[in-house]
Amino acid sequence: MDQNDSSLRIAIQKGGRLSEKTLLLLENIGLEFDSYKNRILVRCRNYDVELLLIRDDDIPEYVQDGICELGFVGHNVTAESKADVTSLRGLGFGKCRLSIAVPKTSGITSLKDLDGSRIATSYPVLTREHFERQDIHVKTIEISGAVEIAPTLNVADAISDIVSTGGTLKTNGLVELETILESQAELIQTNRPIPQHKKDLIHKFLMRMGARQQAEKSRYIMMNAPSDSVKHLCDILPSLKSPTVLPLAENDMVAIHSVIPTHQFWEVMEELKNAGATGIVILPIENMIV
Ligand code: ATP
Ligand code: ZN
Repeated sequence: MDQNDSSLRIAIQKGGRLSEKTLLLLENIGLEFDSYKNRILVRCRNYDVELLLIRDDDIPEYVQDGICELGFVGHNVTAESKADVTSLRGLGFGKCRLSIAVPKTSGITSLKDLDGSRIATSYPVLTREHFERQDIHVKTIEISGAVEIAPTLNVADAISDIVSTGGTLKTNGLVELETILESQAELIQTNRPIPQHKKDLIHKFLMRMGARQQAEKSRYIMMNAPSDSVKHLCDILPSLKSPTVLPLAENDMVAIHSVIPTHQFWEVMEELKNAGATGIVILPIENMIV
């Protein structure tokens, strides 16, 4: 097929930590796919898109080379790859950090104490850069998995690895010393030229994602209140737009509807109640175009 009439191609991780949430995100913006099982290339049924399911380490390069126009991948992987791509947006999941950790019993308390030591890592580029920036000389030992046991095996004096809760470090008698990089899943785009019809598809795709992300950050709130408390309640409501006020059959009572940031709901709920609101209902929003 000529590159000009081919589908928009998106790289996603096959069978890893990011796969499920990425597929859910695509589903939530209305994209339907056939079975992913044992497939590398999966066509979308209702959008001119195909998914390429590959190892996360390969995603930045596939996007850099224009084999895929977009990719869903951890920022840690993009940063380590040094691929020439543009990060379009963070996705709010797959949160973790690349951290330096040392054996609890080592007595090491600062990065400087690691001068001359061996650091086991799957992230040699970012790790080396971090130490070089501080003018500390270390030897990086590249290991692709189970980095956390390297100090026990005396393969290294410290490690630089991905941490989310810190549970794995603790189990292996390690403590975090310093964070190299904060990370989350992100959407990356190729810097290669993109044909116009694919640019249009990306634009529509991003609009849908934006609407969904905005909706997830917001809640629809409804409440009843005496008419004379409307002004006070509207002052309390952290609304995105002016609230809707509707008369109720009951005299001098109104219903107030509004959209508020999700994280502020609990903060304002008490205040709303104290100001006379009753029957407060809060609903999720499926999509939102502001
Ligand atoms: P692949 O087989 O695709 O190479 P992988 O083993 O390298 O997979 P996963 O363990 O599936 O990668 O992790 C994918 C991404 O999830 C990581 O690159 C990182 O961005 C993110 N992540 C979030 N929390 C963690 C964690 N606790 N450990 C490792 N990765 C995490
Ligand atoms: Zn990987």
